Amino acid sequence: MENSLRTIDHWINGALVPSTSGRTSPVYNPATGEVQAQVGLASIDEVDRAVAVAKAAFTSWRLTSLSKRAEIMFAFRQLIVENRAKIADLVSIEHGKVPSDAAGELARGLENIEFACGIPSLLKGGYSEQVSGGVDVYSIKQPLGVVAGITPFNFPAMVPMWMFANAIATGNTFILKPSEKDPSVTLFMAELLAQAGLPAGVFNVVQGDKVSVDRILEHPDIAAVSFVGSTPIARYIYSTGTANGKRVQALGGAKNHMVVLPDADIDMAADAAVSAAYGSAGERCMAISVVVAVGEVADPLIAAISARLPKIKVGAGTDPTSEMGPLITGEHRDKVASYLAGAAGEGAKVVVDGRDADLPAQGFFLGVSLVDNVKPGMSVYDEEIFGPVLVVTRVGTYEEAVALVNEHQYGNGTAIFTRDGGAARQFQFEINVGMVGINVPIPVPVAYYSFGGWKASLFGDSNMYGPAGIEFYTRTKTVTSRWPDPSTSSVDLGFPRTR
Ligand code: NAD
Repeated sequence: MENSLRTIDHWINGALVPSTSGRTSPVYNPATGEVQAQVGLASIDEVDRAVAVAKAAFTSWRLTSLSKRAEIMFAFRQLIVENRAKIADLVSIEHGKVPSDAAGELARGLENIEFACGIPSLLKGGYSEQVSGGVDVYSIKQPLGVVAGITPFNFPAMVPMWMFANAIATGNTFILKPSEKDPSVTLFMAELLAQAGLPAGVFNVVQGDKVSVDRILEHPDIAAVSFVGSTPIARYIYSTGTANGKRVQALGGAKNHMVVLPDADIDMAADAAVSAAYGSAGERCMAISVVVAVGEVADPLIAAISARLPKIKVGAGTDPTSEMGPLITGEHRDKVASYLAGAAGEGAKVVVDGRDADLPAQGFFLGVSLVDNVKPGMSVYDEEIFGPVLVVTRVGTYEEAVALVNEHQYGNGTAIFTRDGGAARQFQFEINVGMVGINVPIPVPVAYYSFGGWKASLFGDSNMYGPAGIEFYTRTKTVTSRWPDPSTSSVDLGFPRTR
C-alpha cells in the first residue's frame, strides 16, 4: 500500500531528486482523510548535498547583475500569474483551504515577488563625498551566502515567498525546508523559478522534519535562517541558530484580540470577527481568536456573530460552495476539539460547539465554535488553538481591554473596532502588539512594509519581508576611499580625523 503512493522529492541543483533516506511522512488530503502521497524526509547527507550545491551556486549568482536578477523576478511573477489556478489547486488539495482562500494566499505572496522586482533600487547604498580632504565614504549591501527558510503548513505558498523573493534577489542562494504536511507547491514554484531563468542551485527545496532542521541549524555554511511556525519551535530555532553563530528571525504563534468599543458598528464588527476567526478554519497566525467586548456592546455583538454562524458552509475545497475547509490533520482536529471539551469545566460558556455540527463524514472537519465568558487563566484564552474557535472576553472599559491585550503572552496582531478616531489613535500608541488594525481585522502588512509580531510571536530583531527582509538578507560594508595627490602623503600616527 505504502509503496504505491506517489513520493514527493527534493529539488536540488535545478532538478527533482528522490530522497534516499528511507524515511517518509504521509501527506493527507484533509478533505477525505486519505493519505494521498508520501514525502521523503532528508537525511543529514541530503541536506549537506543541497548546501554544497547552494554554496557553489553562490559564487556566480552574486556576480549576476541587478538588472538580470530583476528580469528573472519579473518572469517568475508572470509565470505565477499564468499558473494561478494550478497553484491554488495544489495548495487546496494538500492544505484543505478553499480555493478562494488559496488564491488570496497566492496574491499576497505574489506581492513579495513584485517587491523584489525592484531590487536595483532596493540595494542602493549611501555615498558621502569629501568626509575629509580627498576622502569619500560609501556603504554597500552584500549578500550573506547560503541562507535557509523553514516554513509552516498553513501558508505553503505565501510564507516561502516572504523569504525567498528577497533572499535570492539580494544575491544569496536559498535552501527551503517546507512543512512536510503540504510540500508539493514549493516544488512547482521551484520549476517556475527555473523556467524564469534562475540558475540551478540558487533555489533548493529539502523536504524533511527535525533531522533536516537541526542540520540546517548547525551547518557551518548556512549564514542565516528564517523561520515561521509555532512558538515552541520558533524559540528553539532562535536559540539554537544564534548559538551556532547564525543570523536568525523566528516568527511564532499568536492569539489575536479584536477589541470592540461600544460605539462600533455592530454588523460591521460581527462580519469582520466571523471572517477573520473562521477563514482558513482559523489556521492563520493573524486570525482573530479573541473578541474583547467592551461594555454594553457584548450582548448585541454576540447575538450578531451567532446569527452568522449557521450560514457558514463547511466542506471540501473541491465543492465551489464551500467557505471553510477541514483542519490539516485528524490529530490537530482532535486537539482543537479538546479545547471545547475543556472550556465549560473552566467556567466558560460554549455558545456554539463545532463538534455538534453537521459535517462531511470523511476528512478532518470541525464546525465553527463560539465560546463566551472567557477569562485569562483558561486554556481557551491563554493558548493558541489554531482552529475555528472564537472566544469572547467581556470587559467593562477600554482600559481593561488594553491591559488584557498587553498582558497576553502573544503580540502578533490586534484590531480595534470603533468610530472614535481618538480612541483608535490611543490604542495604536499604547498597545504592545506588532501589527495593528483599525477597523481592519487582519492587518497583514503589504509587502513594501514588513511583517512581525512582538513578545512570544517573534524571536530575533528582524521583521520579515519588505525593507526588513532586504536588511536581513544583506550585510553592510562601509568603504572609506582616498585617491590622493601623492604630494600630500606623509606619516601621521594620530587617529584619522575628519577636520
Ligand atoms: P510548526 O512549528 O509545527 O512547524 C513549522 C516548521 O518547523 C515545519 O517546517 C516543521 O517541519 C518544523 N518543525 C516542527 N517541529 C519541529 C521540531 N521539533 N524541531 C525542528 N523543526 C520542527 O508549525 P505549523 O504547525 O506548521 O504551523 C502553525 C504555526 O505556525 C502556528 O503556531 C502559527 O501561529 C504559526 N505561524 C506563524 C506565522 C507568523 O507570521 N508569526 C505565520 C504562519 C504560521
